[in-house]
Amino acid sequence: MYDVTEIRRDFPILSREVNGKPLVYLDNGASAQKPQVVIDAITRAYSEEYANVHRGLHYLSNLATEKYESTRGVIAKFLGVSDEDEIVMNTGTTMGINTVAYGWAMPNLQAGDEIILSVMEHHANIVPWHFLRQRQGVVIKWVDVDSTGYLDPQAVIDAMGPKTKLVAVTHLSNVLGTVVDVKTICAAARERGIATLVDGSQAAVHLPVDVEDIGCDFYPITGHKLYGPSGSGAIYMRKARMAEMQPFLGGGDMIREVHKDEVLWNDAPMMFEAGTPGIVQQIGLGVALDYMMGLGMANIAAHETKLRDYARSRLDGLNWLQVQGTTPDKAAIFSFTLDGAAHAHDISTILDKKGVAVRAGQHCTGPLMDHMGLTATCRASFGLYNTEEEVDKLVDALELAHDLFA
Ligand code: PLP
Repeated sequence: MYDVTEIRRDFPILSREVNGKPLVYLDNGASAQKPQVVIDAITRAYSEEYANVHRGLHYLSNLATEKYESTRGVIAKFLGVSDEDEIVMNTGTTMGINTVAYGWAMPNLQAGDEIILSVMEHHANIVPWHFLRQRQGVVIKWVDVDSTGYLDPQAVIDAMGPKTKLVAVTHLSNVLGTVVDVKTICAAARERGIATLVDGSQAAVHLPVDVEDIGCDFYPITGHKLYGPSGSGAIYMRKARMAEMQPFLGGGDMIREVHKDEVLWNDAPMMFEAGTPGIVQQIGLGVALDYMMGLGMANIAAHETKLRDYARSRLDGLNWLQVQGTTPDKAAIFSFTLDGAAHAHDISTILDKKGVAVRAGQHCTGPLMDHMGLTATCRASFGLYNTEEEVDKLVDALELAHDLFA
């Protein structure tokens, strides 16, 4: 484990005040704060190392290319991928899933083919598949979670049929904190020749991830939740699946040659990296992932498990608070509603007055909200720098909100 007080000094924003109170940042599920090393890397990249990548022959272009490309190897290491050509760099999970939807599913799926989703997917892992439903008659099959937020892998396996071509499930729910047994799901899918996409947006932040051990075909991540810059990200794509894909976006780095009547594109992964990439964003992401690996993903997970247990014990003591998602091994993500008429937005506004930043709303999970019969929740989502003292401040602010609305 690490000394969290020391770690907090790495994140300059954590020492600021909000509404006259020390910031208690519990909106990590939406986006995480950045350590000074990432901020410095961004500044250095723009002030000393900047040029466009891949096509220049001059010193700065080579330097920027080297820095940018080195992130590919860092991402591969972070995700347990042995061949860095299976890493496509992009702007984040939404881009990654759309690359699979347009690049793999669209050319390979026919009307009547099925895609299995869990009911707790983020909109980014629903809407690209909805496009296929709308445009080419693909069928979406939903698998529910139980009242604790548990997704039974057997229920996903039972939903697999002869028409199933893809299972796309989250590794860790951004609302409930549920960790999904994706390894079991992927093994069953592989036996049946079904492709698998595991949405790693949240899991990669909180758990050590080894995609080769999981055995999935696609694993998107998003840099801004990983303590890296917004607009950074990547997707792991298994080589055998890449071979079945068409490029999604055209232009720039995905091109080898263009003639009036013929276009040849680059080999993967660049075939999926159109246009000028987020050069500085990806350089920053590499530094962020190195920072996380420096702390140790197992240490981050252990710290957050302790926080989860403490937060659970404190929140369980509030009998007017309903926490959604109660699986024992969940991540430190707590969505809740309060007895009475208080809307999630009102609660979050009161918490904000106390310096406590949480998110309120649907969290981009409409089907899950429908399934739970809720219109909105408040969500406190913890990160590697949060403390038990901050849990106490959350509880104090919630008590205030309850007093006001009771
Ligand atoms: N999937 C999950 C589980 C998420 O939590 C998020 C972000 O909230 C996304 C996908 C989309 O990520 P991005 O908006 O960075 O592309």
